[in-house]
Amino acid sequence: MSNSNDRRLQVDLTDQVAIVTGASRGIGKAIALELGRAGAKVACIARNEDKLKETADEIISCGGTAALFACDVTNSETVGQVMDAIVDQWEQIDVLVNNAGITRDTLIPRMSDEEWDDVIATNLRSVFLFTRAGIQTMMRKRYGRIINISSVSGIMGNPGQGNYSASKAGIIGLTRTVAREIAGRKVTVNAICPGFIATEMTDALGPAVQDEVKKRVPAKRLGTAQEVADAVLYLASESAAYVTGQVLTIDGGLTA
Ligand code: NDP
Repeated sequence: MSNSNDRRLQVDLTDQVAIVTGASRGIGKAIALELGRAGAKVACIARNEDKLKETADEIISCGGTAALFACDVTNSETVGQVMDAIVDQWEQIDVLVNNAGITRDTLIPRMSDEEWDDVIATNLRSVFLFTRAGIQTMMRKRYGRIINISSVSGIMGNPGQGNYSASKAGIIGLTRTVAREIAGRKVTVNAICPGFIATEMTDALGPAVQDEVKKRVPAKRLGTAQEVADAVLYLASESAAYVTGQVLTIDGGLTA
């Protein structure tokens, strides 16, 4: 008799090194745990060291390997240092998941320069910084998987999310461009656009808005962080070698 684990995607990432930004909670934590379960050594990145430690400890307690690197993903110098430290420690980078992200929602007439800049820096600049810092190592090895977490807001737009939608649409443009730049080196670059996923980010919407969201989503529920992590695992796998420059939407039919 098979159990539900037997029916899950089986991917072996033994001897691979994966980097996950925003690994302290939510979707990033689920991704880090999934890549760890698949056998990758996981570098967990976010600002909150205690929370990062919880993620790393969970990977290690399941028999995996993990290290934490507390850092602000918007800081170019720190990102460079962290990427150097990872390569010093583990000598390679196979999978890079750019997941860290924030919202600072408000309508455009009320949006401050700071709200615009913070969201663009955290959600988009960070993807550029990590990609630039990691790409040479991947190209030298002629292997790599870059997976960028965008959003359906980057495809559809969303009132109150001018900064966020712009950052997420920017990720899609960057993904497609880098994919074309490095496809010949066997490095793939793809984006995932989650719809509404149950995490602290969507908890902040409150129960009334969440109920409205559930009515709008054809699947009539929020997605789970695990469902996003499962898609990351596929894109990180050998099976996805010919998939690059693509945008995979995981939204219960919201954009169908
Ligand atoms: P959470 O708010 O739960 O987690 C965000 C993560 O990003 C945390 O680990 C946080 O860590 C990290 N982070 C934020 N700012 C920085 C920073 N300056 N430096 C380093 N790390 C940072 O969000 P979710 O898990 O819900 O979202 C993860 C990604 O998925 C985001 O990019 C989000 O835009 C995207 N997404 C989410 C959806 C959803 O419905 N939840 C839908 C579509 C896309 P710390 O605070 O410790 O630094």
